[in-house]
Amino acid sequence: MHPAEIAQRLAELEHHLDGHVRYLVHAAQACPFGGNRDWDAVLARYGQSHDPPLKRLEEAQAAGQSRGATASEVRRAAEGLSAQAGAELERLLAPLPRGPAGAVGHPALDHRIAALRAKLSRVPDEVGAQHAANVRPPQQAVAASVGSVFANAVATAKLTPWANVKLDPARVFECRACGAPQQVELDFHCRYCRAPMQG
Ligand SMILES: [Zn+2]
Repeated sequence: MHPAEIAQRLAELEHHLDGHVRYLVHAAQACPFGGNRDWDAVLARYGQSHDPPLKRLEEAQAAGQSRGATASEVRRAAEGLSAQAGAELERLLAPLPRGPAGAVGHPALDHRIAALRAKLSRVPDEVGAQHAANVRPPQQAVAASVGSVFANAVATAKLTPWANVKLDPARVFECRACGAPQQVELDFHCRYCRAPMQG
């Protein structure tokens, strides 16, 4: 393969990776508190399985999230994405003659390959940081809501709807329709899709 062709394929791989990172970050914050079936499908796409409903609720609650998937599931998905893109990079490089330390012997290409590997290794931390910023309500908004006793409860409930919910392990289920983890409420309907929680 000509160096220019390899450079072109590396650029495509990087572009592809950036697209997956955006997709992952969006999907992780767009799902209900603790996830749902759409998010499970994203995890599966990156070769990962999801946690039980109680763990999902406990983790998202402890993190003070207002919505979205848990940090540990998001990290696993990002690690899976990074590993898949890394495997794609190795497939691309496999047919090339390699020198010491795996160098392809073309300084500009070797520099580019090293930069891409470094970028791949940063994916889990970067996705995690973006996700944390997306799903935690701004602290100043929470602090401001404490200003008025009357506004406080309503505002805090909006910012962190699960903040003061005491989880009862025996009553935590996964909605059969959308897969969102939650406690069976008095009306026995999923708070996200309104389907019956158990029938
Ligand atoms: Zn549901």
